[in-house]
Amino acid sequence: MLIGIDDTDSPAGMCTTYLGAVLARRLIHNHMRVREARLVRLNPNVTFKTRGNAAVALEVEGDPDRAFTLACAIVEELADFSCDKTNPGVVVVDRRPDPAFYQRAVTDFCEISDAVQILEAANARYRGWKNRRGLIGATAAVSSIFADATYEILAYRDPSRWGTPREVDKESLFAAEEATFPHTWDTVDVENHVVVCVPHTPDPVLFGIRGESPPWVMAARSLIESEKPVLEQIWVTNQGTDAHLIPGTCGALHEGLSYQVRGVVAGRPTTGAGGHVSFVIRDGDAEVRCMAYEPTKNFRDTVRALVPGDEIVTVGSFKKGSINLEKMNLVVPARDLRIKAPLCSVCNKRMTSDGKGKGYKCRKCGAHAKDPEVQECSRKLSAGWYEVPPTARRHLAKPLCRGVPESTKGDAIIGLIRKRHC
Ligand code: ATP
Repeated sequence: MLIGIDDTDSPAGMCTTYLGAVLARRLIHNHMRVREARLVRLNPNVTFKTRGNAAVALEVEGDPDRAFTLACAIVEELADFSCDKTNPGVVVVDRRPDPAFYQRAVTDFCEISDAVQILEAANARYRGWKNRRGLIGATAAVSSIFADATYEILAYRDPSRWGTPREVDKESLFAAEEATFPHTWDTVDVENHVVVCVPHTPDPVLFGIRGESPPWVMAARSLIESEKPVLEQIWVTNQGTDAHLIPGTCGALHEGLSYQVRGVVAGRPTTGAGGHVSFVIRDGDAEVRCMAYEPTKNFRDTVRALVPGDEIVTVGSFKKGSINLEKMNLVVPARDLRIKAPLCSVCNKRMTSDGKGKGYKCRKCGAHAKDPEVQECSRKLSAGWYEVPPTARRHLAKPLCRGVPESTKGDAIIGLIRKRHC
């Protein structure tokens, strides 16, 4: 059977993965066999989410009625019902429903009624609390098939410590990254000297180590010194796989979906209030704005180095009319040509514009020139993929150390920003 759970936490506490890990132990205690624990990230742009839009699924051998009773009991015991936005869902199915529902939930938006229809057709045992929205994530979790997968070991805190500062030795985290990257990633952000794997929210998670296999995440975990966790669980997950991306074209993007979009840089990137960097790409007559927000730190320097004419592939969510960049591929770099007023051939002074389309005029001697001076500057950016730093990475975004997006593998693959590791 597959057991799906979602929407049990709130900003004030709890975490659906903790609840799933506790349930796995209770099922084992009840003589059931837990074959797999899945941490399933869904559309990161869903507004109802508490933090990372995660649901969990357990693949279990045993009595489904007993498992359903235990799963519902644990939700009643641990879910944070006090929060308006907490609407838990529990699902038990004998067999995986059509993975198309998972596919939609990770790339698009679903309705509660869609989930219920699937559950009815599958003859599922299911229960939704309050407005029952958690049934969407729970149904998506049991429907999921991962085309690509990674692993995360999550260590959970003793309940008596929830809400207090976490004790995790920073140097041991950097040592774990040094010893196991690129087989694990996003434990820390080396360039920005920031810890990434320890949350700051009052939930039960102590830290989480992401990597390519259980042995690698365990190897990194074994190097970490911290307060004693009460529970540890290795999850198989769609994190770091780009499962949220679909192909898109300028002018045909939908709010809240995440895309890979090709285009030509239309103008020089500009830095606005708050340090956010923006530029426009064009494909034929259609245009779209791309954004690199302040939290993407040094990635903004890469974006600022784009020039008009660069042919690029952008990757990110389309929100409020812009693509919020997660990474980009500079496929064909353009020449960086800068145009300025020419020098006067008579008095060697810089001329000024004589009005739109009227060429240039020397203010000193009155001489005229038709053409500007064109200067070619050397490019700071070479062809290749560039990504936001670990501190700004979304759960589903595939780090470049794992490879580049499938559909663009033929493009130039050079210039990885984190050469130190690769
Ligand atoms: P945490 O990750 O810390 O457990 P969360 O960020 O996963 O919390 P939830 O509390 O699970 O947030 O809230 C997300 C809600 O959105 C759930 O009710 C889930 O069923 C629903 N949901 C998930 N994906 C979609 C989707 N694609 N369309 C509509 N609703 C969705």
